[in-house]
Order: sequence, then structure tokens, then C-alpha cells
Amino acid sequence: MSLIVLDHLEKSYGTIPALRDLSLQVPEGCLYGLLGPNGAGKTTTLRILATLLAPDLGDVRIAGLDGLKDQREIRRLIGYVAQEVAIDKILTGRELLALQGDLYHLRPKQRNQRIDELIEMLGMDPWIDRRCGTYSGGMRRRLDLAAGLLHRPQLLILDEPTVGLDIESRAVIWNVLRDLRDQGTTVLLSTHYLEEVEALADRMAIIDAGTVIAEGTPNDLKKRLGGDRVTLRVREFSNEQEAETICDLLEPLDGVQNIVINRSQGHSLNLVVDGEQVLPRLRLCLEEAGLPVFALAQSRPSLDDVYLQATGRTLMDAELAIAGQRDPKQERKQAMR
Ligand code: ATP
Repeated sequence: MSLIVLDHLEKSYGTIPALRDLSLQVPEGCLYGLLGPNGAGKTTTLRILATLLAPDLGDVRIAGLDGLKDQREIRRLIGYVAQEVAIDKILTGRELLALQGDLYHLRPKQRNQRIDELIEMLGMDPWIDRRCGTYSGGMRRRLDLAAGLLHRPQLLILDEPTVGLDIESRAVIWNVLRDLRDQGTTVLLSTHYLEEVEALADRMAIIDAGTVIAEGTPNDLKKRLGGDRVTLRVREFSNEQEAETICDLLEPLDGVQNIVINRSQGHSLNLVVDGEQVLPRLRLCLEEAGLPVFALAQSRPSLDDVYLQATGRTLMDAELAIAGQRDPKQERKQAMR
């Protein structure tokens, strides 16, 4: 059963579109990852789920409740850990959690027990009685997660929970999220780290330019790509026209399943091939056409390949593109030739 159903969401900030026809279903009890570059629309989606923002169009359902009408009930059953950590610097971590517990109307005994549990769960004992102003980024993030868990939410929503964190804090947070999922909590997190969804997510969606471009388990998404990946560079290959010519040359070869032009690294070609015997055929074909192979690498499909397949860019390049205001939708159309 789906705990979250998002149906055809649209959201713009003034003239800036953030979500375009975004639909998504998150099964109950699942650890679900939303992967996408900066600016893809992840925070907007999560803020809509947390009832902090209303979509312009579309439906939001959480546990059968209406995201626009039943906000009070929804807030009771979710915990939201935002990207920006808002922590009072004067209070100690324990005092801050107590204050938060009071806001949830927890009884003092029950509240203190829960705080002790969370201190243990998140390894906060050595520093929880220090003032928050002295905490590192990792400590603040753990405290923020504890605050989101105080009322034992049925659904925990986290916006890029480990961005910029040290390895130890990241490992602690990952383990806590896995434990929560094992105990029945539905966990939805956004990230732009491929390894984070790979390590954690039971299911995932890739978001690009405000819409879902791929959905499934990480393994299924990789399997859908088919065989091995080959990245190929040819010395003379420097512009779009040459890329097209080479695609036309290689596409009919036996064993070549798919070709994507990767515009993020000086126009290389990413091919999906069926078996190793294809490689000599590729080399020969290119050499006969006077296009000697400059570099060739073969690997198993990764989530970055899934992203590349759908958009024509690597995840890292997508972030640079968004920083430079290129139009990802236009590029995707070109990539899906
Ligand atoms: P990040 O990881 O950087 O937070 P994101 O995937 O969460 O990225 P959003 O923050 O949802 O993406 O942003 C989606 C789009 O909406 C971007 O183009 C962003 O610049 C724009 N945007 C987000 N918030 C606002 C706002 N308050 N005012 C104007 N534009 C906004």
C-alpha cells in the first residue's frame, strides 16, 4: 500500500517553475530515495509533503489524508528534518529536545525517556549537555534528526540529511534510518549523492527539472539499462554533427543496444553493449572510418548511467548546468535521439 501519493503536482515560484507534472507513490514501510541535482525540485516536493507549501495544481495524499485539507492530522504523523538546521545556540542539545517535546505535548516522564533513547540511538551522549553553539555540522544534524523523531512519526521526511557531513556522522545517520525502516517507519529522503541511494534506498525516483524521470528499485533501474556500459572517445570527435555521424555508424553493429551522447565530458559516447565480443567490432568499425579510438572504458551499469540515459548528462554535470541556467528539458530531448 502507498503511504504517499503525489498526483500531477505543479509548482512555480513566480515565473520560476519548480515542479512540472510530478507524480510519485511511496509504499508504506519503505526507505525511499529522491535523487536529483541541486534545483531539481526535491525540497519543493518535500515541503509540500510537510504541509509547509501548497502546490499550484495536483493532489497530495498521505496515509489517505488530504495534504491540503487535513494538515493538522498529517503533521501529527510526520517528522520533517529540513535542509537548513535551525538550532538555538544558547540552549544545550538536551534542553532543545525537551522544548521540542513540550511542543508535541509529551508528558515530562515520557518525554525524558524518549530523549534518553534518542541520545543513545544517535550517539549524542558525549556532547548533548553542551551548548548547541559549540556543535559541529554533524552534531547539529544528529540533533535535528532526534528532534524530528521525538514523537515517533509514522513517516520521516529528510531533506539531504548527510550533505557535507563527516563519515562518522553519516554512518550513524544511515544506520538509524535503516533501523527505523526495519521497525516499520516509512522514510523518505532527498539526496544528490548517488552512493546514498545506492546504500540505503529500497526504492527511488530520479527527479530532474521538476519531474520524475525514472522510478523503481536501484537494481531494477540499473537492470533496465541492459548490458555493460562502454564509454568511448574518438580523437576527432569534437562537435554535435560528428557525434551524430558516429552514432549512425555504430548503431547498426551487432550487440550495440543503445547509444547516448554524453555532452558533459567533451562529447564522449556512452554505449550499452551486449557482451565483450562487441568491443573489437566497435574498434574495427571506427578505425575503418578513419576515427581511431582515443579512450575506451567498460563497466557495469551504475545509477549515474541511469541518470545519463534519461537526461544525456551526468548528475554532476546537471548541477553545473543548473548553476549555469542551461535548459535541462531541451538537453534531455536531444539526448533521447
Ligand atoms: P537543492 O538541493 O539545491 O535544494 P532541490 O532539488 O531541492 O535543490 P528546489 O529547492 O525544490 O530544488 O528548487 C526547485 C527550483 O525552484 C529551482 O530552480 C530553485 O531555484 C527554485 N526555487 C526554490 N525555492 C524558491 C524560492 N523560494 N523562490 C524562487 N525560486 C525558488
